[in-house]
Amino acid sequence: MSKHEIYAKRSLGQHFLLDTNLTDKIARIANVKGSTVIEIGPGPGGLTRSLLMNGAKKVIAIEKDPRCLAALLELQSFYSESLIIVEADAMNIDLSQISSKPFNIVANLPYNISTPLLIGWLQKIKSISQMTLTFQKEVADRLVASPSTKAYGRLSVITQWLCNVNIQFNIDSLAFVPPPKVVSSVVTLLPRNKPSAPADWLKLEKVTYAAFNQRRKMLRSSLKKFNLDLPSLGINPTLRAENLTIEQFCQLARSIRD
Ligand code: SAH
Repeated sequence: MSKHEIYAKRSLGQHFLLDTNLTDKIARIANVKGSTVIEIGPGPGGLTRSLLMNGAKKVIAIEKDPRCLAALLELQSFYSESLIIVEADAMNIDLSQISSKPFNIVANLPYNISTPLLIGWLQKIKSISQMTLTFQKEVADRLVASPSTKAYGRLSVITQWLCNVNIQFNIDSLAFVPPPKVVSSVVTLLPRNKPSAPADWLKLEKVTYAAFNQRRKMLRSSLKKFNLDLPSLGINPTLRAENLTIEQFCQLARSIRD
């Protein structure tokens, strides 16, 4: 990295992971062997190198910062067949346009874009074989949260509806250059064969938005506009959003009109 004189830019959320023990560990739990991997934000390519060394058939690396390209091109000289470098903003790219399916997504993402990107990928879950993503621990806790906990919210419901989600391990902030302010967690998301309960995505978004937007209110008030007969659905109207299971949210989604 110093050879290529890449100084971390805060605006791009740059915190580089250069410890090969950690990048190898991520590559192993990402099950990259023989798969097509899309890596978002490779930076100078520490994790990219581990993905290739651990047997990825192909790595498509999408990086926005042109300063990182020299380091990535050097790596490519060793992996000319398997490493494809795309200079682009991951927020504006349709992954199915640049890769055959299914693909395996791996990313140590800038924190400001990690959640919107994840939501976009969940909408295309059928194209994805696995996601292995590094988040700030607080976001990781929300992804895996169970009902009736503080961290349980829309992100927990939508993510677990579609995927088996696990926090694999935490990474101390000092492992990054420069260190971020918070602890990070590596999370694996394995798409389910089918969603955990039937529901339409947009309707599920609508009910979870309404319920969690007023998460301290009872459901009879936060869901009022849907005119649902909650008791007939077996749902106590005095409960709050955080008390409902994912199955119950799906049941609500199936009961609302367009
Ligand atoms: N994965 C590398 C770098 C992590 S830092 C490592 O683990 O060391 C995050 C990286 O994401 C940076 O290289 C940054 O330039 C890149 N990045 C930030 N926003 C991006 C975007 N919108 N699209 C693609 N890459 C982005």
